[in-house]
Order: sequence, then structure tokens, then C-alpha cells
Amino acid sequence: MNLVDRFLKYVSFETTSYEDAECFPSSPKVFDLADHLVEEIKGIGLEDAMRDEYGYVYAHLPASPGVDAETIGLMAHMDTSSAVSGANIKPRILKYEGGDIQLNPSVVMKEADFPNLQYFVGDELIVTDGTTLLGADDKAGIAEIVTAVEYLLAHPEVKHGRLALCFNPEEETGRGTEHIDLKKFDPVFAYTLDGDRLGGIEYECFNGAGVKFKVNGINIHPGSAKNKMKNAVLMGTELIGMFPPAETPAHTEGYEGFYHIMGFEGDESSAKIGMIVRDHDRAKFEERKAFVRRVVDYMNAKYGEGTVELDMSDTYYNMRDILESRMDVVDRALDAMKSLGIEPFVTPIRGGTDGAGLTYMGVPTPNLSTGGQNYHGIMEFVSIDQMKKMVDVIVKLVSVE
Ligand SMILES: [Zn+2]
Repeated sequence: MNLVDRFLKYVSFETTSYEDAECFPSSPKVFDLADHLVEEIKGIGLEDAMRDEYGYVYAHLPASPGVDAETIGLMAHMDTSSAVSGANIKPRILKYEGGDIQLNPSVVMKEADFPNLQYFVGDELIVTDGTTLLGADDKAGIAEIVTAVEYLLAHPEVKHGRLALCFNPEEETGRGTEHIDLKKFDPVFAYTLDGDRLGGIEYECFNGAGVKFKVNGINIHPGSAKNKMKNAVLMGTELIGMFPPAETPAHTEGYEGFYHIMGFEGDESSAKIGMIVRDHDRAKFEERKAFVRRVVDYMNAKYGEGTVELDMSDTYYNMRDILESRMDVVDRALDAMKSLGIEPFVTPIRGGTDGAGLTYMGVPTPNLSTGGQNYHGIMEFVSIDQMKKMVDVIVKLVSVE
């Protein structure tokens, strides 16, 4: 099966993952794609391919005879975002010559709204019918890895070290490495193939913390409340107002961190506020958390001890802090791209990745492009030309001279 047919087969599986599900994986439908992948990669010659009870697919390609090199991991996720439907995807292949793309009679992808289309002029693209996402995030990554492995098996003259493959569920819910088994996925370093347009390399992400405030009010009949009532809604509003309005996701970019209020519910007696804190810089991240504590101290000094309860915990850290001691892993990817005439570009991720999780588990894991664009929406598309180049990049990346 070729790269495109493989990709189209993968997107025919509905693999939406769901944020608030308690179970793992969040939907059993991902098992169907996982089982298909096991059959397929066994078929091309990776005999140890298996799927575990959590939905992870693992397989290994032995090193070429006589090659002694560190095992390299290749990883991509099977699930898709719940932001838009991932069921009954109807992909369409077109040759892009520039301009707008009519997805269906009423939905147009406008060049003016998506200036990145300039990087795809002359390419064959796979687009949606304007009603679902495409699932290139991250089935393009899976198709590229499987195709690269198939190429290596067919070309024994291309020498390589041992490869460990992992296709995981739950990346979109932030739980992609929660049940990963590092005895089954056992590389020294790895790459996730989960980026956008060709040439992208990411090895810096946010440090992240989750914050929950509980505001305890005192409710009394409004007719006799003077000097007695402590309205939890008003106190919650006051607390939110203490965070700098310019330091929110809507007003920051690049390396700038933020406070993001994600929810506010309650009444006079009690209120709950959800927030996340993000910063690429670890010292600034710690300062932001210290500011959260100062806000709580202020509120409790003003309204009485116990008025605001704080529950704050770290969710992930910037993988750059670890990767700095293994920059050869990043350089290897930069060199592979350059040797194929691809101009690499490094961008900081304004979020976390499975690679960040893996890096902190001891497996340095930068993230590479796949050739897709406009993820988590109906405008998602992937370039067949860029996918083919990423297959070449993977082959180059794992080959030894
Ligand atoms: Zn992804």
C-alpha cells in the first residue's frame, strides 16, 4: 500500500478522543485503528507488533546487520481532536495552484484567512468536504512512519540502527504518555511526527500548571445582609480581576506566558474558578505561581482565612531544559532536513506535547513536521508532496553512514 492509500485508510477510522472521559482510552473506537495498524505492520515484516489494553501499538525494526547504534523511537498519535467531528470523513485530493479552495458549495478556505497556503502552491493536497476535520493530525505522522519503515525493509542497502515504534491514543486530551510502557517502547531518544508544514522542528514547550480556586462566601437574606454577607460571586470576580489583562492567551504569542481563566461557576455561597498558568521560562513560571499564591493570601487577609482555597499543581515542564544536554538529537533532525534541501525552522510550542512527557520520562523527544495544516477544524489539509518528503526525512534521520 502506498503512502496516500495508507493515509486515506487511517482517516476512515473515527478516533475522536474526549477530554472529560474517565476511562482510558476515552473511546474504544481507537482500538479499531490500533488493531488495523498491528495487522498492517506485521504484514510488512515487523513481527513483534502488538496492541496493549490501553490502545498503544508497539513494534520494532531490528538494526541492519553489523550496525551498533542507539535505538531511535518514532511516535505518532492515533486520536483526533473532539473540537470538530472526526466521523465519516470524505477526503478529496486536488492540485493546488494558489487562490481560495472551495470545500463545498458554502464553505471556502480563503487564501486571505490562511496565508500559510503560500507554502503549498504546486502541491497535491488532501482536503475535507468542509463538514469534518481531516485527521492529518496525526494520521499523516503514522502514514509517514509506516511508509519509511516499509522503505527500509525493501532497501537493506540503507543501513540503520534499531527502531522502536509507538502509535498512541489520547494525545489530544493531554494523556498521550499516561499509560506508555517504556519496556515496550524502549528507545534512547525519539521523535514525534506531529507538526505542521514541512521543515518544522519543535523542542521547546510551555511549563504548565493547573489551578483551582474555591471561594467560600457567607450568604444571608439580602434584606439583613449589611456587614455580614460575603458574596462568593463578587469575591471571585475580584480575584479574577487581579490577574493582568494583557497576560492572557488573547494578548500573548511566541515565548510570552499567560494566565488563562477557563471556568467560573457559583452563587453567593460558593464559587469555583478554573485557571491554567503557562510560561516557557521556568523561573518566570515559578514567579507566576508565586503571584497566584499572593492573590490568594491577599483575598484571605481581606475577607478572612479560608475564604479562598487554592489547589495548584504542575502538569508538564518545558522539554528544552532536558534536551539542552542532548542537542545532538535536535541537530540530527536539522541535518537530515538540510541534506534533503529542506529549510528547517524552529518554533516554540504554545502548549505541551507527548514528546515533553517522554522527555521528562528520560527519552529526549523533539517533534517534527508532517506536512499538514489548520488542525482541529474543517479547514485541515495535508500536502502529499510534503508527506513524501517527510518519509525521506525519516529514512535519512535513522540511517547510518
Ligand atoms: Zn497532533
